[in-house]
Amino acid sequence: MNSVIAPPTAPTLAVRGTADVYPVHRIYCVGRNYAEHAREMGHDPDREPPFFFQKNPDTLVPNGGQFPYPDKSHDVHHEIEMVAALGTGGKDIPAADALQCVYGYTVGLDMTRRDLQARMKAAGRPWEIGKAFDFSAPCAEIVPAVEIGHPARGAIWLAVNGELRQQGDLEQMIWNVAEIIAHLSGLFTLTAGDLIYTGTPAGVAAVQRGDVLHGGVDGVGELRITVV
Ligand code: MN
Repeated sequence: MNSVIAPPTAPTLAVRGTADVYPVHRIYCVGRNYAEHAREMGHDPDREPPFFFQKNPDTLVPNGGQFPYPDKSHDVHHEIEMVAALGTGGKDIPAADALQCVYGYTVGLDMTRRDLQARMKAAGRPWEIGKAFDFSAPCAEIVPAVEIGHPARGAIWLAVNGELRQQGDLEQMIWNVAEIIAHLSGLFTLTAGDLIYTGTPAGVAAVQRGDVLHGGVDGVGELRITVV
């Protein structure tokens, strides 16, 4: 049987320190998972259930890559996040078992057309045009959990042109990785290859062409991206 079009390339991420790759199936993102960021976006950080949106796997940009400033926006924000990469999946996974599903971790940027997102929020419409646009998911190499464990604390930070913009600690997450997987697997069947962006600390702000975004999660890794 012939494919009637050229098959799309399956997106992958490098596995740090190896020649191996991690094939990406879906990208899930958690909204407002740090209280200070919820407040800066004008929301009460009460512990309401986590909520989710998705990005498209072909929007990944590898570490060291370029982020083309997107069309149709004049307010594109950086959101530095720890990313969990699943090695197995399932439905209705109990939080107590959830970390067994995680193959590894990395550092990602949830790039956001904030003006378009705000317009969609105000109209009660979906967020995709603000969140899931081309090149919106820069992401560093996957680091296996067998090497670093399951990080629950440690600094998460982002500097723009050498100036610190975002700073927080993983222990400030409203919902931890196990709880996120438990909630998410009640809504979607999770599988190997799913990435979960776990939310951003306070300090999100606009980027400009020429900016160098350099962020990291202590004990996990670092990510460097240039806005072009
Ligand atoms: Mn985010």
